[in-house]
Amino acid sequence: MRMRQTLADRFWSKVDKRGPDECWLWRSAVSKNGYGAFGIGKRGHFGAHRIAWELTNGRIPRGGGSHGTCVCHRCDNPLCVNPAHLWLGSCADNLRDMRDKGRQGRGEVMARRGEANGFSKLTEQLVRDIRANYVLCRVTQRELALRFSVGRSTISYIINGKLWPHVAVRRSA
Ligand SMILES: [Zn+2]
Repeated sequence: MRMRQTLADRFWSKVDKRGPDECWLWRSAVSKNGYGAFGIGKRGHFGAHRIAWELTNGRIPRGGGSHGTCVCHRCDNPLCVNPAHLWLGSCADNLRDMRDKGRQGRGEVMARRGEANGFSKLTEQLVRDIRANYVLCRVTQRELALRFSVGRSTISYIINGKLWPHVAVRRSA
């Protein structure tokens, strides 16, 4: 298992490890969707939080349904890779969790629209979540539009990075 050890060493060397309850921030590459990105040779880049979970708990089960299994954050910090903050859920769980935490829903986003700072944290988070769900969970654009209550063209713009977060909100209103 020397390979595994090497991989783990390389992985954790990129992490700002802190106390067991604190967020451990990823200090290397960040992917477009806001998660840490860890490269494994020719296999490409993987979500750092997913690797952290696997190094701690073993392989992520494939999970039921068409969307597979998500590694979700208890702390809502996409760059955190503290295994204690990560939990395994279906993408449906992940979306439900977001909704429960008030990160989803056009009403709330719209309520924040008038803020002087157009890039409200919620909006950024929403855009990040949409991208993450698309990239990591392979939720279709159509389904994302339904679940996040935004237009399909907006989803498409968000995923293609053509739209600023605050513009996306205005267009969907
Ligand atoms: Zn955390």
